[in-house]
Amino acid sequence: MPSIPWRPRVILSGRNFRLPVQATDDNIALTADQFETIATRWCERDTARYYYLRSPQKQGDYTLIATHSGNTEETTIQVRTLDDMRQPHTHNGAQWPRRWPLGQNYQPTKTRQTLQNDPRTERLNEETIAWWSSQPDHVLWSQLPPAELPKAHFANCHQGCPNCGTAIFKYSGFYPWERNHLPCDFKSQCPNCASIYPSNNLIKEDYISGEYADDGYGYFDAEGHIYLFAATYHRDQCRAYHAGINALTDSLRATYLDEERTRKLGLMLLRYATEELYLAAVPQFRYGPSKGVEEPWDWGQPDWAEESDPVAALSRKGTIRYSIDTPYLIESLALAYDTAWPLLREDTELVERARAFGLSLQGPEDTCTIDVEGLQDIAAGDRITINSNGRAHSYRIEAAEQLSAHIHRLTLDITSILGRAKVVAIEDNKIDFGFQIPAKSGNLHGTRLQTDDWAVITNAHNSSTWPPGKIRTTITIDPNNNKLQNLSPGTWVQVVDYVIGDPVLFEPLCRG
Ligand SMILES: [Zn+2]
Repeated sequence: MPSIPWRPRVILSGRNFRLPVQATDDNIALTADQFETIATRWCERDTARYYYLRSPQKQGDYTLIATHSGNTEETTIQVRTLDDMRQPHTHNGAQWPRRWPLGQNYQPTKTRQTLQNDPRTERLNEETIAWWSSQPDHVLWSQLPPAELPKAHFANCHQGCPNCGTAIFKYSGFYPWERNHLPCDFKSQCPNCASIYPSNNLIKEDYISGEYADDGYGYFDAEGHIYLFAATYHRDQCRAYHAGINALTDSLRATYLDEERTRKLGLMLLRYATEELYLAAVPQFRYGPSKGVEEPWDWGQPDWAEESDPVAALSRKGTIRYSIDTPYLIESLALAYDTAWPLLREDTELVERARAFGLSLQGPEDTCTIDVEGLQDIAAGDRITINSNGRAHSYRIEAAEQLSAHIHRLTLDITSILGRAKVVAIEDNKIDFGFQIPAKSGNLHGTRLQTDDWAVITNAHNSSTWPPGKIRTTITIDPNNNKLQNLSPGTWVQVVDYVIGDPVLFEPLCRG
Protein backbone atom coordinates (compact mmCIF):
# COMPACT_ATOMS: atom_id res chain seq x y z
CA MET A 1 0.00 0.00 0.00
CA PRO A 2 1.27 3.47 -0.74
CA SER A 3 0.87 5.97 2.09
CA ILE A 4 0.67 9.74 2.28
CA PRO A 5 2.28 10.31 5.70
CA TRP A 6 1.76 14.09 5.73
CA ARG A 7 -0.23 16.75 3.95
CA PRO A 8 -1.34 20.29 4.80
CA ARG A 9 -4.88 20.08 6.16
CA VAL A 10 -5.59 23.63 4.99
CA ILE A 11 -3.45 25.76 2.68
CA LEU A 12 -3.76 29.14 1.01
CA SER A 13 -4.54 29.15 -2.69
CA GLY A 14 -1.50 29.39 -4.95
CA ARG A 15 1.02 28.22 -2.33
CA ASN A 16 3.81 25.64 -2.69
CA PHE A 17 4.26 22.62 -0.44
CA ARG A 18 5.96 19.23 -0.35
CA LEU A 19 3.79 16.12 -0.45
CA PRO A 20 5.48 12.81 0.47
CA VAL A 21 4.20 9.48 -0.89
CA GLN A 22 5.79 6.42 0.68
CA ALA A 23 5.92 2.94 -0.88
CA THR A 24 8.26 -0.06 -1.09
CA ASP A 25 9.59 1.16 -4.45
CA ASP A 26 9.24 4.05 -6.84
CA ASN A 27 6.40 2.73 -9.00
CA ILE A 28 4.19 5.48 -7.65
CA ALA A 29 1.66 7.62 -9.47
CA LEU A 30 -0.09 10.66 -8.03
CA THR A 31 -3.40 12.06 -9.20
CA ALA A 32 -3.59 15.64 -8.07
CA ASP A 33 -5.73 17.40 -10.63
CA GLN A 34 -5.73 21.19 -10.30
CA PHE A 35 -2.40 21.12 -8.43
CA GLU A 36 0.63 22.17 -10.45
CA THR A 37 3.62 19.85 -10.08
CA ILE A 38 6.73 22.05 -9.85
CA ALA A 39 9.17 19.17 -9.32
CA THR A 40 9.34 15.62 -8.00
CA ARG A 41 12.08 13.27 -6.79
CA TRP A 42 12.49 9.79 -5.36
CA CYS A 43 14.31 9.60 -2.01
CA GLU A 44 15.85 6.19 -1.34
CA ARG A 45 16.59 6.97 2.32
CA ASP A 46 12.91 7.70 3.06
CA THR A 47 11.58 5.23 0.44
CA ALA A 48 9.32 8.06 -0.60
CA ARG A 49 8.60 10.17 -3.62
CA TYR A 50 8.37 13.86 -2.88
CA TYR A 51 6.07 16.01 -4.95
CA TYR A 52 6.55 19.78 -4.92
CA LEU A 53 3.07 21.07 -5.64
CA ARG A 54 1.35 24.40 -6.04
CA SER A 55 -2.18 24.61 -4.66
CA PRO A 56 -4.98 25.74 -7.02
CA GLN A 57 -6.12 29.35 -7.13
CA LYS A 58 -9.71 28.27 -6.74
CA GLN A 59 -10.84 27.38 -3.24
CA GLY A 60 -12.27 23.94 -2.57
CA ASP A 61 -11.65 20.57 -0.93
CA TYR A 62 -9.38 18.61 -3.23
CA THR A 63 -8.76 14.88 -3.17
CA LEU A 64 -5.28 13.60 -4.07
CA ILE A 65 -4.79 9.93 -4.88
CA ALA A 66 -1.52 7.98 -4.74
CA THR A 67 -1.32 4.67 -6.61
CA HIS A 68 1.25 1.87 -6.18
CA SER A 69 0.98 -1.70 -7.53
CA GLY A 70 -2.75 -1.37 -8.00
CA ASN A 71 -3.37 -0.04 -4.47
CA THR A 72 -4.43 3.49 -3.71
CA GLU A 73 -4.28 5.92 -0.82
CA GLU A 74 -6.08 9.23 -0.84
CA THR A 75 -6.11 12.40 1.19
CA THR A 76 -7.98 15.69 1.15
CA ILE A 77 -6.51 19.18 1.19
CA GLN A 78 -8.66 22.24 1.88
CA VAL A 79 -7.57 25.13 -0.34
CA ARG A 80 -8.80 28.48 0.92
CA THR A 81 -8.39 32.15 0.11
CA LEU A 82 -7.23 34.52 2.81
CA ASP A 83 -10.71 36.05 2.97
CA ASP A 84 -12.21 32.61 3.66
CA MET A 85 -9.70 31.94 6.39
CA ARG A 86 -10.54 35.23 8.06
CA GLN A 87 -14.18 34.26 8.51
CA PRO A 88 -14.80 33.16 12.11
CA HIS A 89 -15.27 29.39 12.22
CA THR A 90 -14.83 26.48 14.61
CA HIS A 91 -12.66 23.42 14.11
CA ASN A 92 -11.92 20.66 16.62
CA GLY A 93 -13.73 22.54 19.38
CA ALA A 94 -11.76 25.77 19.02
CA GLN A 95 -12.52 29.10 17.39
CA TRP A 96 -10.48 30.11 14.36
CA PRO A 97 -8.75 32.24 13.34
CA ARG A 98 -6.88 32.81 16.60
CA ARG A 99 -7.21 36.58 16.31
CA TRP A 100 -8.93 38.82 18.81
CA PRO A 101 -11.75 39.44 19.47
CA LEU A 102 -12.35 35.74 18.82
CA GLY A 103 -15.39 34.86 16.76
CA GLN A 104 -15.95 38.40 15.55
CA ASN A 105 -14.99 40.33 12.47
CA TYR A 106 -12.18 42.82 12.74
CA GLN A 107 -13.17 46.41 13.46
CA PRO A 108 -10.46 49.06 13.49
CA THR A 109 -10.49 51.11 16.69
CA LYS A 110 -7.48 53.35 16.16
CA THR A 111 -8.43 57.03 16.23
CA ARG A 112 -5.10 58.75 16.80
CA GLN A 113 -1.38 58.17 17.12
CA THR A 114 -0.47 56.99 20.59
CA LEU A 115 3.16 55.84 20.50
CA GLN A 116 5.00 58.84 19.11
CA ASN A 117 6.33 59.90 22.51
CA ASP A 118 8.32 56.68 22.68
CA PRO A 119 12.07 57.30 22.55
CA ARG A 120 13.55 57.47 19.08
CA THR A 121 16.64 55.66 17.87
CA GLU A 122 19.66 57.92 18.15
CA ARG A 123 21.64 56.29 15.37
CA LEU A 124 19.94 55.48 12.11
CA ASN A 125 21.14 52.54 10.04
CA GLU A 126 21.44 54.49 6.78
CA GLU A 127 22.50 51.48 4.70
CA THR A 128 19.47 49.41 5.75
CA ILE A 129 17.14 52.39 5.30
CA ALA A 130 18.52 53.02 1.80
CA TRP A 131 18.07 49.40 0.73
CA TRP A 132 14.46 49.03 1.88
CA SER A 133 13.55 52.51 0.62
CA SER A 134 14.75 51.76 -2.90
CA GLN A 135 13.11 48.39 -3.63
CA PRO A 136 10.14 48.05 -5.98
CA ASP A 137 6.94 46.62 -4.53
CA HIS A 138 7.39 43.06 -5.83
CA VAL A 139 10.84 42.83 -4.19
CA LEU A 140 9.54 44.16 -0.87
CA TRP A 141 6.66 41.70 -1.03
CA SER A 142 8.94 38.71 -1.66
CA GLN A 143 11.35 39.43 1.21
CA LEU A 144 9.13 37.66 3.72
CA PRO A 145 9.26 34.00 2.59
CA PRO A 146 6.01 32.01 2.48
CA ALA A 147 5.15 30.36 5.81
CA GLU A 148 4.94 26.86 4.30
CA LEU A 149 8.74 26.68 4.30
CA PRO A 150 9.82 25.47 7.74
CA LYS A 151 12.09 27.38 10.12
CA ALA A 152 14.73 26.24 12.60
CA HIS A 153 17.36 27.58 14.97
CA PHE A 154 20.42 25.48 14.20
CA ALA A 155 21.81 24.31 10.87
CA ASN A 156 23.97 21.57 12.34
CA CYS A 157 25.54 21.54 15.82
CA HIS A 158 27.45 18.26 15.40
CA GLN A 159 29.10 17.82 12.01
CA GLY A 160 29.37 21.56 11.25
CA CYS A 161 30.09 22.14 7.55
CA PRO A 162 29.63 19.37 4.92
CA ASN A 163 33.04 20.33 3.49
CA CYS A 164 35.33 21.34 6.38
CA GLY A 165 33.49 19.85 9.34
CA THR A 166 33.67 21.24 12.87
CA ALA A 167 36.38 23.78 11.96
CA ILE A 168 33.44 26.10 11.24
CA PHE A 169 32.54 26.31 14.95
CA LYS A 170 35.59 28.41 15.78
CA TYR A 171 33.84 31.28 13.95
CA SER A 172 30.60 31.75 15.80
CA GLY A 173 29.48 28.84 17.91
CA PHE A 174 26.20 27.49 16.67
CA TYR A 175 25.41 30.38 14.32
CA PRO A 176 28.53 30.37 12.13
CA TRP A 177 27.02 30.61 8.62
CA GLU A 178 27.44 33.86 6.71
CA ARG A 179 24.40 35.17 4.92
CA ASN A 180 23.25 38.10 2.89
CA HIS A 181 19.57 38.93 3.43
CA LEU A 182 19.19 41.98 1.18
CA PRO A 183 17.75 40.51 -0.94
CA CYS A 184 16.69 37.09 0.32
CA ASP A 185 18.69 34.37 -1.52
CA PHE A 186 18.53 31.31 0.81
CA LYS A 187 22.32 30.83 0.53
CA SER A 188 24.69 30.16 3.43
CA GLN A 189 28.46 30.47 3.17
CA CYS A 190 30.97 28.72 5.42
CA PRO A 191 33.28 31.33 7.02
CA ASN A 192 36.08 28.76 7.15
CA CYS A 193 36.16 27.13 3.69
CA ALA A 194 33.84 29.50 1.75
CA SER A 195 31.60 26.67 0.50
CA ILE A 196 28.09 27.81 -0.31
CA TYR A 197 24.97 25.77 0.47
CA PRO A 198 22.49 24.60 -0.64
CA SER A 199 23.08 23.81 -4.32
CA ASN A 200 19.47 24.43 -5.36
CA ASN A 201 17.79 27.84 -5.63
CA LEU A 202 14.64 28.11 -3.52
CA ILE A 203 13.99 31.67 -4.70
CA LYS A 204 13.43 30.27 -8.21
CA GLU A 205 11.27 27.40 -6.89
CA ASP A 206 14.17 25.03 -7.52
CA TYR A 207 13.82 22.38 -4.81
CA ILE A 208 16.09 19.63 -6.07
CA SER A 209 19.13 20.74 -8.14
CA GLY A 210 22.67 19.70 -7.37
CA GLU A 211 24.50 17.53 -4.89
CA TYR A 212 23.58 19.57 -1.80
CA ALA A 213 19.91 20.28 -2.37
CA ASP A 214 17.79 21.48 0.56
CA ASP A 215 14.07 21.67 -0.22
CA GLY A 216 13.38 23.46 3.06
CA TYR A 217 13.48 20.32 5.22
CA GLY A 218 17.27 20.01 5.17
CA TYR A 219 20.14 18.53 3.19
CA PHE A 220 21.16 14.99 4.25
CA ASP A 221 24.71 13.75 3.74
CA ALA A 222 25.61 10.14 2.87
CA GLU A 223 25.62 9.19 6.56
CA GLY A 224 22.16 10.67 7.05
CA HIS A 225 23.28 13.78 8.99
CA ILE A 226 20.93 16.67 8.47
CA TYR A 227 21.95 20.26 7.69
CA LEU A 228 19.13 22.79 8.00
CA PHE A 229 20.47 25.47 5.67
CA ALA A 230 17.14 26.68 4.30
CA ALA A 231 15.18 26.49 7.55
CA THR A 232 17.77 28.50 9.51
CA TYR A 233 18.18 30.98 6.67
CA HIS A 234 14.39 31.39 6.69
CA ARG A 235 14.44 32.20 10.39
CA ASP A 236 17.17 34.80 9.82
CA GLN A 237 15.34 36.27 6.83
CA CYS A 238 12.30 36.95 9.02
CA ARG A 239 14.62 38.81 11.39
CA ALA A 240 15.99 40.81 8.46
CA TYR A 241 12.45 41.72 7.45
CA HIS A 242 11.79 42.89 11.00
CA ALA A 243 14.99 44.97 10.83
CA GLY A 244 13.70 46.54 7.61
CA ILE A 245 10.42 47.53 9.28
CA ASN A 246 12.39 49.04 12.16
CA ALA A 247 14.73 50.93 9.82
CA LEU A 248 11.93 52.55 7.82
CA THR A 249 10.01 53.38 11.02
CA ASP A 250 13.10 54.98 12.55
CA SER A 251 13.78 57.05 9.46
CA LEU A 252 10.18 58.32 9.25
CA ARG A 253 10.19 59.26 12.92
CA ALA A 254 13.51 61.06 12.60
CA THR A 255 12.34 63.22 9.70
CA TYR A 256 8.79 63.42 8.39
CA LEU A 257 6.23 61.17 6.71
CA ASP A 258 7.83 60.96 3.29
CA GLU A 259 4.88 59.56 1.32
CA GLU A 260 6.71 57.00 -0.79
CA ARG A 261 8.78 55.68 2.11
CA THR A 262 5.64 55.47 4.24
CA ARG A 263 3.91 53.46 1.50
CA LYS A 264 6.85 51.05 1.37
CA LEU A 265 6.55 50.56 5.10
CA GLY A 266 2.78 50.15 4.69
CA LEU A 267 3.28 47.50 2.03
CA MET A 268 5.71 45.59 4.26
CA LEU A 269 3.17 45.70 7.09
CA LEU A 270 0.46 44.38 4.77
CA ARG A 271 2.73 41.55 3.68
CA TYR A 272 3.42 40.72 7.32
CA ALA A 273 -0.28 40.90 8.19
CA THR A 274 -1.13 38.50 5.35
CA GLU A 275 1.18 35.83 6.70
CA GLU A 276 0.10 36.40 10.32
CA LEU A 277 -3.59 36.17 9.44
CA TYR A 278 -2.84 32.97 7.57
CA LEU A 279 -1.10 31.46 10.60
CA ALA A 280 -3.93 32.60 12.89
CA ALA A 281 -6.17 30.24 10.91
CA VAL A 282 -3.62 27.57 9.93
CA PRO A 283 -1.24 26.86 12.85
CA GLN A 284 0.39 24.02 10.93
CA PHE A 285 2.80 26.52 9.37
CA ARG A 286 3.76 28.31 12.59
CA TYR A 287 7.38 28.34 13.70
CA GLY A 288 6.75 25.90 16.54
CA PRO A 289 8.96 24.98 19.47
CA SER A 290 12.72 25.44 19.54
CA LYS A 291 14.82 22.33 19.13
CA GLY A 292 18.13 22.35 20.93
CA VAL A 293 19.83 20.75 17.94
CA GLU A 294 19.15 20.02 14.30
CA GLU A 295 16.27 17.56 13.93
CA PRO A 296 14.42 16.27 10.88
CA TRP A 297 10.66 16.81 10.61
CA ASP A 298 8.33 13.87 10.73
CA TRP A 299 7.56 14.31 6.99
CA GLY A 300 6.15 17.79 7.53
CA GLN A 301 5.09 20.23 10.19
CA PRO A 302 2.65 18.99 12.86
CA ASP A 303 -0.94 20.21 12.82
CA TRP A 304 -1.52 21.50 16.33
CA ALA A 305 -5.14 22.31 15.46
CA GLU A 306 -5.81 18.56 15.40
CA GLU A 307 -4.59 17.87 18.95
CA SER A 308 -7.13 17.03 21.67
CA ASP A 309 -6.83 20.53 23.15
CA PRO A 310 -5.79 22.69 20.19
CA VAL A 311 -5.68 25.93 22.19
CA ALA A 312 -3.40 24.44 24.83
CA ALA A 313 -1.30 22.96 22.00
CA LEU A 314 -0.50 26.47 20.74
CA SER A 315 1.10 27.44 24.03
CA ARG A 316 4.70 28.57 23.49
CA LYS A 317 4.38 28.14 19.73
CA GLY A 318 5.39 31.19 17.71
CA THR A 319 3.74 32.38 14.52
CA ILE A 320 6.00 33.76 11.80
CA ARG A 321 8.65 34.21 14.47
CA TYR A 322 9.80 32.01 17.31
CA SER A 323 7.65 32.48 20.44
CA ILE A 324 10.15 34.40 22.57
CA ASP A 325 10.74 36.88 19.71
CA THR A 326 7.05 37.76 19.63
CA PRO A 327 6.88 40.51 22.29
CA TYR A 328 9.53 42.76 20.75
CA LEU A 329 8.33 41.98 17.26
CA ILE A 330 4.82 43.17 18.23
CA GLU A 331 6.35 46.33 19.71
CA SER A 332 8.00 47.06 16.35
CA LEU A 333 4.85 46.39 14.35
CA ALA A 334 2.76 48.58 16.63
CA LEU A 335 5.21 51.46 16.42
CA ALA A 336 5.53 51.10 12.64
CA TYR A 337 1.76 51.17 12.21
CA ASP A 338 1.36 54.09 14.59
CA THR A 339 4.04 56.01 12.69
CA ALA A 340 2.65 55.34 9.22
CA TRP A 341 -0.99 55.65 10.30
CA PRO A 342 -1.63 59.31 9.31
CA LEU A 343 -0.94 58.36 5.69
CA LEU A 344 -2.20 54.76 5.72
CA ARG A 345 -5.62 55.69 7.05
CA GLU A 346 -6.40 57.73 3.97
CA ASP A 347 -4.05 56.56 1.22
CA THR A 348 -5.80 55.06 -1.79
CA GLU A 349 -2.55 54.59 -3.73
CA LEU A 350 -1.25 51.99 -1.28
CA VAL A 351 -4.57 50.16 -1.48
CA GLU A 352 -4.21 49.98 -5.27
CA ARG A 353 -0.61 48.76 -5.06
CA ALA A 354 -1.44 46.11 -2.46
CA ARG A 355 -4.28 44.79 -4.62
CA ALA A 356 -1.65 43.83 -7.20
CA PHE A 357 -0.55 41.13 -4.71
CA GLY A 358 -4.03 39.66 -4.44
CA LEU A 359 -5.18 41.44 -1.30
CA SER A 360 -8.89 42.21 -1.40
CA LEU A 361 -8.70 45.57 0.30
CA GLN A 362 -11.84 47.68 0.11
CA GLY A 363 -10.17 51.03 0.73
CA PRO A 364 -7.95 52.80 3.22
CA GLU A 365 -8.39 51.55 6.75
CA ASP A 366 -10.10 54.73 7.71
CA THR A 367 -11.46 57.61 5.74
CA CYS A 368 -11.52 61.22 6.75
CA THR A 369 -14.72 61.74 8.67
CA ILE A 370 -15.94 64.61 10.83
CA ASP A 371 -19.16 65.03 12.74
CA VAL A 372 -20.86 68.38 12.15
CA GLU A 373 -23.77 69.91 14.01
CA GLY A 374 -26.56 72.14 12.73
CA LEU A 375 -26.38 71.60 8.97
CA GLN A 376 -29.48 70.74 6.99
CA ASP A 377 -29.86 68.95 3.68
CA ILE A 378 -26.17 68.17 3.17
CA ALA A 379 -25.15 65.48 0.68
CA ALA A 380 -22.25 63.94 -1.23
CA GLY A 381 -20.85 66.34 -3.81
CA ASP A 382 -21.39 69.41 -1.62
CA ARG A 383 -18.46 71.40 -0.34
CA ILE A 384 -17.79 72.76 3.11
CA THR A 385 -15.27 75.30 4.33
CA ILE A 386 -13.81 74.45 7.71
CA ASN A 387 -12.21 76.90 10.10
CA SER A 388 -13.63 79.72 8.00
CA ASN A 389 -12.09 82.45 10.15
CA GLY A 390 -8.64 80.89 9.80
CA ARG A 391 -7.23 79.00 6.84
CA ALA A 392 -10.72 78.51 5.39
CA HIS A 393 -9.88 75.43 3.36
CA SER A 394 -12.61 73.94 1.20
CA TYR A 395 -13.33 70.20 1.28
CA ARG A 396 -15.48 68.09 -0.98
CA ILE A 397 -17.95 65.76 0.76
CA GLU A 398 -17.61 62.16 -0.40
CA ALA A 399 -20.44 60.86 1.79
CA ALA A 400 -22.88 62.20 4.38
CA GLU A 401 -24.58 60.14 7.06
CA GLN A 402 -27.23 61.56 9.41
CA LEU A 403 -26.44 60.50 12.97
CA SER A 404 -29.23 62.42 14.71
CA ALA A 405 -31.60 65.30 14.06
CA HIS A 406 -28.79 67.87 14.12
CA ILE A 407 -25.59 65.90 13.55
CA HIS A 408 -24.14 64.60 10.30
CA ARG A 409 -21.01 62.49 9.85
CA LEU A 410 -19.21 63.66 6.72
CA THR A 411 -16.54 61.83 4.79
CA LEU A 412 -14.18 64.39 3.26
CA ASP A 413 -11.95 64.12 0.22
CA ILE A 414 -8.66 64.73 2.03
CA THR A 415 -7.25 64.54 5.51
CA SER A 416 -6.88 67.45 7.87
CA ILE A 417 -3.25 66.59 8.57
CA LEU A 418 -0.70 68.79 6.79
CA GLY A 419 2.43 67.41 8.39
CA ARG A 420 4.15 66.02 11.42
CA ALA A 421 7.33 67.33 12.95
CA LYS A 422 9.51 67.32 16.00
CA VAL A 423 10.00 70.57 17.89
CA VAL A 424 13.69 71.47 17.79
CA ALA A 425 13.61 74.83 19.56
CA ILE A 426 11.08 77.21 21.09
CA GLU A 427 11.62 80.89 21.70
CA ASP A 428 8.72 83.09 22.81
CA ASN A 429 5.97 81.96 20.48
CA LYS A 430 8.29 80.87 17.64
CA ILE A 431 8.79 77.16 17.09
CA ASP A 432 11.59 75.75 14.96
CA PHE A 433 11.15 72.30 13.40
CA GLY A 434 14.66 71.80 11.99
CA PHE A 435 13.34 70.58 8.65
CA GLN A 436 10.65 71.48 6.18
CA ILE A 437 7.02 70.56 6.69
CA PRO A 438 6.07 69.50 3.17
CA ALA A 439 3.53 72.25 2.54
CA LYS A 440 3.81 75.78 1.21
CA SER A 441 4.32 78.03 4.20
CA GLY A 442 1.34 80.17 3.14
CA ASN A 443 -0.83 77.07 3.49
CA LEU A 444 0.06 76.82 7.15
CA HIS A 445 -1.25 80.25 8.15
CA GLY A 446 -4.36 79.86 10.28
CA THR A 447 -3.87 76.12 10.80
CA ARG A 448 -3.43 74.45 14.18
CA LEU A 449 -0.51 72.94 15.97
CA GLN A 450 -1.76 69.83 17.73
CA THR A 451 -0.55 67.39 20.35
CA ASP A 452 -3.11 66.43 23.00
CA ASP A 453 -4.47 69.95 22.64
CA TRP A 454 -3.84 72.69 20.12
CA ALA A 455 -2.70 76.21 19.33
CA VAL A 456 -3.45 78.50 16.40
CA ILE A 457 -0.60 79.04 13.95
CA THR A 458 -0.50 82.73 13.00
CA ASN A 459 2.56 82.67 10.79
CA ALA A 460 4.92 80.21 9.13
CA HIS A 461 7.96 80.51 6.96
CA ASN A 462 10.48 78.25 5.31
CA SER A 463 14.13 79.32 5.37
CA SER A 464 17.36 77.90 4.02
CA THR A 465 19.95 76.80 6.50
CA TRP A 466 23.43 75.41 6.31
CA PRO A 467 24.13 73.09 4.51
CA PRO A 468 22.60 74.80 1.45
CA GLY A 469 19.50 73.14 0.10
CA LYS A 470 18.21 72.12 3.47
CA ILE A 471 15.03 74.01 4.31
CA ARG A 472 13.51 74.35 7.74
CA THR A 473 10.07 75.51 8.77
CA THR A 474 9.52 77.96 11.60
CA ILE A 475 6.04 78.82 12.86
CA THR A 476 4.57 81.37 15.23
CA ILE A 477 1.66 80.44 17.46
CA ASP A 478 -0.97 82.82 18.82
CA PRO A 479 -0.33 83.34 22.57
CA ASN A 480 -4.02 84.13 23.06
CA ASN A 481 -5.09 80.91 21.37
CA ASN A 482 -2.64 78.47 22.87
CA LYS A 483 -3.98 75.54 24.87
CA LEU A 484 -0.72 73.59 24.65
CA GLN A 485 0.94 72.80 27.94
CA ASN A 486 4.54 71.74 28.33
CA LEU A 487 5.49 72.06 24.68
CA SER A 488 9.22 71.44 24.72
CA PRO A 489 12.03 70.54 22.31
CA GLY A 490 11.73 66.90 21.31
CA THR A 491 7.91 66.89 21.35
CA TRP A 492 6.22 65.53 18.23
CA VAL A 493 3.39 67.65 16.88
CA GLN A 494 0.97 67.62 13.99
CA VAL A 495 -0.03 70.54 11.87
CA VAL A 496 -3.74 70.12 11.19
CA ASP A 497 -6.26 72.19 9.35
CA TYR A 498 -8.98 71.99 11.95
CA VAL A 499 -9.76 70.81 15.46
CA ILE A 500 -12.93 69.91 17.33
CA GLY A 501 -15.17 72.95 17.74
CA ASP A 502 -14.10 74.77 14.60
CA PRO A 503 -16.87 76.49 12.60
CA VAL A 504 -17.95 74.92 9.33
CA LEU A 505 -19.35 76.88 6.41
CA PHE A 506 -21.69 74.95 4.13
CA GLU A 507 -21.82 75.70 0.42
CA PRO A 508 -24.76 73.69 -0.90
CA LEU A 509 -24.88 72.76 -4.56
CA CYS A 510 -27.83 74.15 -6.47
CA ARG A 511 -30.10 71.14 -6.78
CA GLY A 512 -32.63 71.05 -9.56
ZN1 LIG B 1 33.35 24.81 5.54
